[in-house]
Amino acid sequence: MDFNTIDLTRAEQATSLLINNEQQEYQSRTLLDKNNGRYAYLPIFPTEYVGPNECLVLANVPVNRLAPHQINRRQYGAYTFDALMLMNKYNYSDEFSLSEQDANELASRLQVGKSIITFNAQQLRSICHTLLVFHESFRRYVLCKSDVALKEPTLNSKQMAIALEFYLQIDVDLFYMKTCSFRGAEPRSKIEGLFCGRDELQARYTLTPCGNLFCLCCHPLNSHKKTQKWSVVDFNSSSMHRFVNGYTTYLNCPATCTTSNIIYAMTCPCGHYDYIDSTAKTLADVMAHHREHGNRIIHEKLTGSPLFRGSQIDPDERENEMANQMRLYQHSARCAGALRSFLDCNPMYWCFIPLPWDEAVTENAANRPKPSTTDPNLDAVIATTAVDNRRVANYLDNVLLPPTSYTFSFRQLKQQRLFFDRFATSSIH
Ligand SMILES: [Zn+2]
Ligand SMILES: [Zn+2]
Repeated sequence: MDFNTIDLTRAEQATSLLINNEQQEYQSRTLLDKNNGRYAYLPIFPTEYVGPNECLVLANVPVNRLAPHQINRRQYGAYTFDALMLMNKYNYSDEFSLSEQDANELASRLQVGKSIITFNAQQLRSICHTLLVFHESFRRYVLCKSDVALKEPTLNSKQMAIALEFYLQIDVDLFYMKTCSFRGAEPRSKIEGLFCGRDELQARYTLTPCGNLFCLCCHPLNSHKKTQKWSVVDFNSSSMHRFVNGYTTYLNCPATCTTSNIIYAMTCPCGHYDYIDSTAKTLADVMAHHREHGNRIIHEKLTGSPLFRGSQIDPDERENEMANQMRLYQHSARCAGALRSFLDCNPMYWCFIPLPWDEAVTENAANRPKPSTTDPNLDAVIATTAVDNRRVANYLDNVLLPPTSYTFSFRQLKQQRLFFDRFATSSIH
């Protein structure tokens, strides 16, 4: 063994006598099985070994939640024989690589041994190649676009350094950029580098309302109609987001609804489905886009008819087809929570929700038509549409038959007819 390298086992034995050994090893909240596919995408300490004994970097775990051998690794893991040997083999001129100068700069700014930087740069490099392959097959098989040469097929050293700074802090259970200095953010502390000290991480930024009167994030449409007040964006809890699997992410720089080039997350009102995406546009823009497709798909599911009865050369047809395949919308079209929110904003769709048989029968009996009590408006519509309007009849034919033991009441059937008659001029939110 080289004089300058560290034997972690011996160091651990020596220090375990000095340190309080009661602290248990850090247990991940979100990664219960090391064979889980996500493990391959996490930053790890340099090692030649590949497999479940690899040790996660755990950059965002406070030091007092680590076991002694994990603290040891944090202190000396960059200087083991393997680590130094692998660092010396790092190819600084390959594609998706760091230059030696950028590797040195990042190691000094993040206050870690350079082998942690080069080893994880190598990990990130193979992830980049994997993602390129995914991107290519997505283009080919989902977007059905022909292959084109990418303008910039690889990242240069400066871009890799930024990507690596993010990568190292996308920790196993928590994403928090302690060192972030982008977009007006301030690094958490000048003395703290990549590794979290004793203090638990705290939220530092929030998404602030832009205040524009026409912004759909700040002023949701139809809020007066809703039975319960709920907003599109929960500004109060925007500093931190916990995904359904328990993974937590913090907002790492100041932002508003008009900030562009963002990564955003949406959780279904049911609380059981997450969606994460990025956009070069703003949050308000993507919310409008998702609302349009989400509403269209729920409309189509409830009524059985396409929302936009376009011609054969409908310019949106391709986009709609692609959206129809997205799991996000497939979920919301089947989810009771999402459907409830939709009906809350668009109550005219209640007539497409069938009633249990006995309820419909009771309602029909109670509402047996009497000339003096019928809605003159409805009667007028029925009178004009029943005979003349084949279009409305076609729409009515497309409404899915209720499942066994459910049915539409007479009132609902009338309302459906009225709905389709007014369909051309109605709007959903
Ligand atoms: Zn706004
Ligand atoms: Zn849901």
